[in-house]
Amino acid sequence: MDLDQLTLEEAAEGLKKKKFSSADLTQNCLDKIQEKEKDIFAFLKVMTKEALLQARKADKVLEKGEGISKLTGVPLAIKDNILLKGIACTAGSRILENYIAPYDATIISRLKQRNAVFLGKTNLDEFAMGSSTENSSFQVTHNPCDLTRVPGGSSGGSAAAVKSGEALYSLGSDTGGSVRQPAAFCGLVGLKPTYGSVSRYGLMAFASSLDQIGPITKTVGDNRLVFQAISGLDKRDATSRQKEDFPAGFSLKQLKVGLIKDELLQSVDPLIVERIKRMVNELQEKGAEVKMIDVPSFLSALPTYYIIAPAEASTNLARYDGIKYGASVLAKNLQEVYRLTRGEKFGPEVKRRIMLGTFVLSTGYADAYYKRALKVRRLITKEIERAFQEVDVIISPTTPTLPFKIGERTKDPVQMYLSDLLTVPASLAGVPALTVPAGVIQGLPVGLQIMGPAFREERLFQVGEEIEKLISL
Ligand code: GLN
Repeated sequence: MDLDQLTLEEAAEGLKKKKFSSADLTQNCLDKIQEKEKDIFAFLKVMTKEALLQARKADKVLEKGEGISKLTGVPLAIKDNILLKGIACTAGSRILENYIAPYDATIISRLKQRNAVFLGKTNLDEFAMGSSTENSSFQVTHNPCDLTRVPGGSSGGSAAAVKSGEALYSLGSDTGGSVRQPAAFCGLVGLKPTYGSVSRYGLMAFASSLDQIGPITKTVGDNRLVFQAISGLDKRDATSRQKEDFPAGFSLKQLKVGLIKDELLQSVDPLIVERIKRMVNELQEKGAEVKMIDVPSFLSALPTYYIIAPAEASTNLARYDGIKYGASVLAKNLQEVYRLTRGEKFGPEVKRRIMLGTFVLSTGYADAYYKRALKVRRLITKEIERAFQEVDVIISPTTPTLPFKIGERTKDPVQMYLSDLLTVPASLAGVPALTVPAGVIQGLPVGLQIMGPAFREERLFQVGEEIEKLISL
């Protein structure tokens, strides 16, 4: 049996039936990592010893058969901006090169309670700023579907690890698309949960009003399992909200699907638009009602995001001063320590965001930029909420292009930012969005994005499963 091809659900089943042990599964992933990392570069740290110990412990738990969950003994990979106690956590930045996490993120504690096996920490764009992992200070991750192309970002390492069979599933963080876009580029399923449904405690902050941790998996069913395990109220995160309990179960005949109007998709690759429309047509043939929806402020989401996210990042990153965390450059006085540490250790994209953010928040400009962006954010949220009075879900492509070549966009930050065109609206509105594979074009994966009202993740999973069925036909 090819263990690395297993879905999480199949792995759980196999463990339960004792077809293999957690140690077998884990060793298999570690072997894959050995074999593939020279081409993929998904991991910043592999925790061989720790993982095997955890696997043996999980095997004991499985043996006893008490308190097991489907995640017990299944190996996963974690984006390197999520704290795992005692393990280095770099956020892909030289400024945190020697930083050791002093505590576990809430989601890590939740996974530990379930005896999950942690294989290691995955590569990302520095502080999760980017769409290709090329902004990592350490390495560029390659897309397992085509090694000359980017895996997307910023959770590119997490997506590549799953696609290449190095891990059975992974966790990423999504501020403006960083789970969804890499999942789409690697032909996987990725969820950006409702803002507040997954604790941010122990996630290194980029833009706190947008950041959410989300699962990257091979199937929708797997994604649901992981989401159920990591979500829930956490008193350590003041923005955490109680998940309302919505009934599951619907039939396609009752489903109202909103499709984004053509005008809003003008800068999207026509082949991708055609593919997504075809999928929606197929849903319609199966009984769903389809409605074109107009959300004019959608097009304002990208510029709005690129004011709000850098503004929050500039304040969040003020803490990296060479004193409290990580690297410190020796200098003759305190001011110099700040200046040299930040000057030498932050990469160019992070500096660009800090400068942008500081500018849009500065006296005299805050009204024109930051405060106006907050108003537009409100408008986008209102329009999306209004759309959900008419339809149950909104479907669009996840990305405007197919996975691009390594190096293709590094010289032009605006080109890079355009990757986020279709993912930032859900981020600004705080609503959940799921990307599911919609087949391949020219040999490269295409992602279909399903957005839903706040806390309706279950609805997204159900629609996602319908798309999965269409694709497998
Ligand atoms: N690509 C977007 C950015 O660079 C989103 C990043 C993210 O979601 N972390 O800001």
